[in-house]
Amino acid sequence: MHDDQFSWHLTYTGVSLDRAAEIRPSSDQIEKMQFSDKARVLPVWNGMHFFEKDGVEPLWIASAEVESLLGQYTNPIFLGVGEDIPWFTLPLMGEAPPAALASDGVFELLHPRVGSIHAEQAALLSYARGMVLWHLNHLHCGRCGAITESHDAGHVRSCTNESCGHRMFPRTDPAVITLVVHPDGDKCLLGRQSRWPDGMYSVVAGFVEPGESLEECVKREVKEETGIETNDIRYIASQPWPFPSSLMLGFTAQALNAEFDPGDDELDDIRWVTRTELSTYGEMSDGTEGPKLPNSFSIARMLLERWRFSE
Ligand SMILES: [Zn+2]
Repeated sequence: MHDDQFSWHLTYTGVSLDRAAEIRPSSDQIEKMQFSDKARVLPVWNGMHFFEKDGVEPLWIASAEVESLLGQYTNPIFLGVGEDIPWFTLPLMGEAPPAALASDGVFELLHPRVGSIHAEQAALLSYARGMVLWHLNHLHCGRCGAITESHDAGHVRSCTNESCGHRMFPRTDPAVITLVVHPDGDKCLLGRQSRWPDGMYSVVAGFVEPGESLEECVKREVKEETGIETNDIRYIASQPWPFPSSLMLGFTAQALNAEFDPGDDELDDIRWVTRTELSTYGEMSDGTEGPKLPNSFSIARMLLERWRFSE
């Protein structure tokens, strides 16, 4: 298969803003943008975004309205500039979202809504979510435990303990996700975890550990979960997965043996599946019994479709 015959938009990729990293350290420039008439703010409360109440569109708040609606407009996180519009995001604290917003919209999780919104919106909201969750998970210094504060338009947090001064940067956690091809070339490896929704099957995935290359991680995860040895590991594509902070790195690998002998009990069921069998797998939402494909927003699905249509 030639890659140019297969095209697939990976959900949560494609942020169209200029991230304008060079102006983040300039508080003057950032403030000017923050309070400009054009600025837009995406509020995030409890990991959820603000959506139309009776529609599907995500909502933003104009700069001039932020203080009256949200009660504060300090330390917004600068996302970037698109079509001359500066975009920011702001974590909202508290047990409930601000009452002033209640008549306009609702806070809901991004993932269940992602099929109804434009791909660029999904990518922007995912970027905002990732940034906000990083802030909320780094309110204290990981080195000395003191309070941290936001700098560089929200792209750095610094420890307030002067004798420590630790600086933290937004992070993503690399995870590999791998489609393993049978030694005969005509089947791929699928597995399921008991905690997954009924019937769902997917490819092998796991977090990269310190001191491990991506290829070593692919080999280790596949071996641990299935007992299959692999080689010919090839990188295919990546997908941000801000639930809360992963970067999924998609690979294919060639199996050297076909007998399953898992070293852990992460997978409940493991199987080799032909292209024809894969075509009979249902969608998570189709309400039928029987095995299901991972949802179409995931890189797992992209890897499977890419393999299904190759030959
Ligand atoms: Zn510290």
